[in-house]
Amino acid sequence: MSPNAVRPVLLRSRLNAGTMSTPVAIVAAVAGIGAYALYTRRSSASAEVKEPFASFGFHQLRLKSSDLVNHNTKRLRFELPDPNVKSGLSLTSAVLTISFPNGGWIPCIRPYTPTNDLNDKGFIDLMVKHYPNGKQSTHLHSLKPGDSLRFAPIKEIAWTPNKHDHVALIAGGAGITPMYQLTRGILSNPADHTRVTLVWGVNTDEDIFLKDEFGKLEKEYPGRFRAVYVVSQPGPDSKYAKGYVTRQVLEGAGLAVGKEGKEGEDVKVLVCGPPPMEKALTGSKGLFGSPKTGVLHEMGFKADQIHRF
Ligand SMILES: Cc1cc2nc3c(=O)[nH]c(=O)nc-3n(C[C@H](O)[C@H](O)[C@H](O)COP(=O)(O)OP(=O)(O)OC[C@H]3O[C@@H](n4cnc5c(N)ncnc54)[C@H](O)[C@@H]3O)c2cc1C
Repeated sequence: MSPNAVRPVLLRSRLNAGTMSTPVAIVAAVAGIGAYALYTRRSSASAEVKEPFASFGFHQLRLKSSDLVNHNTKRLRFELPDPNVKSGLSLTSAVLTISFPNGGWIPCIRPYTPTNDLNDKGFIDLMVKHYPNGKQSTHLHSLKPGDSLRFAPIKEIAWTPNKHDHVALIAGGAGITPMYQLTRGILSNPADHTRVTLVWGVNTDEDIFLKDEFGKLEKEYPGRFRAVYVVSQPGPDSKYAKGYVTRQVLEGAGLAVGKEGKEGEDVKVLVCGPPPMEKALTGSKGLFGSPKTGVLHEMGFKADQIHRF
């Protein structure tokens, strides 16, 4: 199959990704990517554009550095083809990483959300948590500076400043990265006045990374941004609340429908975490697409207020 034959499929996937849930967008993109990646597997990266991820295309980037940030997470910095240009990723976007485990022909494709400022030039940073049996996270953790990896951009949600009064970001584990990108994007835009509340559930105190970055944003934007951490297995000296992300935790973080003395406040809730957590919060899809169960539904949030990455 020629690359040109595949391109329209990919472009359609990219255009639709703004309105689809991330898993659907990924599945749609993957169908085309698999074929395209196989075709281009032995060839060099696609023609370079100014901002490589401003439109759909594949780019092979070189790893510049790989640093452990906690017991299981690495920050990987990949160099863009031109050190003087931005990545071209918009708020909120991720990149699909494409590898070929054990030199085989079946691609392994997983999304990761860059955590660097979208205005940074010349590089993208990924924070990658290692899952012991995880195909891609193991591969990414094994990369050494100078190694390269194939990427393609995907759109997560198209963020519109001031569309909502308040956005609640609920993350589990490595699901924090899209939330960090969005928090920083909202707060750094002087024209966006959206209030942001982050609730992040992790297993252990050591799983918390980006804490300094979130702390800095809380200080810089008091009253606009608040971060709440919950740890399911905290250490004896832990300063965090113990448990999972429950209704009580969410209400304690000030998340409620039409309460807080802010009657009629338009709240959007975004959720990104391991499947059991997402299911507990957003429930299973009902017959007409609305969640029938789940903590957020019980709290009174409507289906169109909730987005699962
Ligand atoms: C939009 C989006 C953005 C993402 N951004 C990031 C990011 O920035 N950083 C990051 O580290 N990850 C991120 N992820 C998750 C990432 O895409 C992979 O799913 C993850 O790295 C595991 O892939 P793997 O191939 O290593 O594991 P797989 O081979 O797919 O799975 C192997 C085993 O690992 C465990 N596992 C896999 N994924 C999870 C999970 N999410 N929670 C709990 N256990 C799991 C399970 O036991 C599973 O059986 C993102 C996911 C999405 C949808």
